[in-house]
Amino acid sequence: MELIRNPTRAVRIGAITIGANNPIAVQSMCATRTQDIEATVTQVNELVAAGADVIRIAVDNRKDVLALARIRERTSATLSVDLQENYRLAEDAAPQVDKLRYNPGHLYHHERKKPWQDKVRFLVDIAGEHDCALRVGVNCGSVDPAKLEKYKSGDSMSPMLESALEHCTLLDSLGFTRYCVSLKDSDPRKVIEVNRRFAAERDDIPLHLGVTEAGLPPDGVIKTRIAFEQLVSRGIGDTIRVSLTLPNPRKGEEVAAGLEILADIAAGRVRSVVDYGKDTLNIISCPSCSRVENEAFIDLAQRVKEVTEYATQYAITIAVMGCRVNGPGETDDADLGLWCGPNFVNLKRGGERVGAYRYDEILPHLKQELDALIAKKAASPTID
Ligand code: SF4
Repeated sequence: MELIRNPTRAVRIGAITIGANNPIAVQSMCATRTQDIEATVTQVNELVAAGADVIRIAVDNRKDVLALARIRERTSATLSVDLQENYRLAEDAAPQVDKLRYNPGHLYHHERKKPWQDKVRFLVDIAGEHDCALRVGVNCGSVDPAKLEKYKSGDSMSPMLESALEHCTLLDSLGFTRYCVSLKDSDPRKVIEVNRRFAAERDDIPLHLGVTEAGLPPDGVIKTRIAFEQLVSRGIGDTIRVSLTLPNPRKGEEVAAGLEILADIAAGRVRSVVDYGKDTLNIISCPSCSRVENEAFIDLAQRVKEVTEYATQYAITIAVMGCRVNGPGETDDADLGLWCGPNFVNLKRGGERVGAYRYDEILPHLKQELDALIAKKAASPTID
């Protein structure tokens, strides 16, 4: 299905462009020591081979910047540099890369008396001079201290949001629009909330999505998937990164996971109930995993699509989930839910249980429920 995307600006990063309905770019980051040139070039090549569109490399000091220049000589990959705490390194790093990432919360560490606005002006000048895009990368673990003081300790989202918005306003006022924003947290629910809030205020600015420190696969992939499902299905997100704890030879799995999650969302294969923002029938089915207890689930998901085709014009969500571990909870938000056990398929109306039926019996019961829902909508058109 075609996803409806937010009307974000086009932002060119080297050979690729994000935003403005361009394909969602998949990024990754080298986990090697930047000064280990051989290992970093090898990892860049592996990430490119895995399908990464942009690869980030961190620089912490002058030696890292010198290494970055040597890495650049050996790859034509689209590179982004992570400035970490020393924003002044941008001056020497920018000629080697296509994008500079700075963290508003880190601008305070150097030259504490200099206003942060002057530091951003410096970065804008450097980016302009060297044909680089910028990313304003806000992270839950390093929020601007002045913003943290303004909000209650339990509210970690508002300081992140305010910091990001303030930087956007400054960048715009400087006439620099070639930037994107990221708002990352390790809790997928917070990632969903803060990115939704940002997009509600600035739907023109491309968003780089990510759940930071998501952890080891498969849990890290699942957390990330849940956040991306809820955001990308709503048109939010122009580039993504899946951050996984992996040994260096397996780093390409981050990229593979990102590509798979995006393909699944576009096809309606999702683990959480999502709303694609369309006024038509929304059938989602989980992407399936080792927990599927009956192979018949795959065929059932396909058959559900076929037998409900007549109801395409109704804004109804039907969720088909493959197991009893996550299925019961993950169907709660759908209008009609089916979750599959080893021998029976459980049918739900919202959070309410309708019954359990054999795989070869379930479809007429689903159709009966669907017809009742359509009749209810016809009688009371305001129900959605
Ligand atoms: S619902 Fe169950 S089978 Fe489907 S992806 Fe989730 S855990 Fe796996």
